[in-house]
Amino acid sequence: MHKLSYINRILGSEDLFSDGLNGVSHDTLSFAVAALAILLAVVLVVLISVAFRYRRQQKNIFRQEQMQMEVARRRRIRVSDKNEVFERDNYTCQICGISKDYLDSFCPGLGDYLLLEADHIRSVSQGGTGRDIDNLQCLCWRCNRKKGGRRTNDEVRDMIDYGIGYLQDEGDWD
Ligand SMILES: [Zn+2]
Repeated sequence: MHKLSYINRILGSEDLFSDGLNGVSHDTLSFAVAALAILLAVVLVVLISVAFRYRRQQKNIFRQEQMQMEVARRRRIRVSDKNEVFERDNYTCQICGISKDYLDSFCPGLGDYLLLEADHIRSVSQGGTGRDIDNLQCLCWRCNRKKGGRRTNDEVRDMIDYGIGYLQDEGDWD
């Protein structure tokens, strides 16, 4: 057979879709094609929804990481700022009033054992920043633990029972 006429017979043959394909009918073929199209559409929809969900998750993770970085950035206090705050507040706890000088008056050098800390007046969790020196204050470790991220100075002052400067009652010392 001539090659061209063979191709013509394959491509142009009318009965390719009628009963030429091993007896498969036209209806069965249409049904198979439609079913395949629906299947493909379903797979496509599933793939797209999975892709969108993945993208949303990635966005949320990114946003969370950004927030954590932002919180870490606002929590940070420069050493120079911390020293400036201690100097400004005269190495005195702004809640209970204990100070380096006060302890040194009992025994020179004792004040160095007072663990003073730079506290965020408005806490980082409430939007405060360590970059603003006006948002920092000198606190002793005890008051700072009690203040945490939610309490104000006055609220801590109402709670504490160790007295101004820890050692209010001078009668204990003689
Ligand atoms: Zn204190």
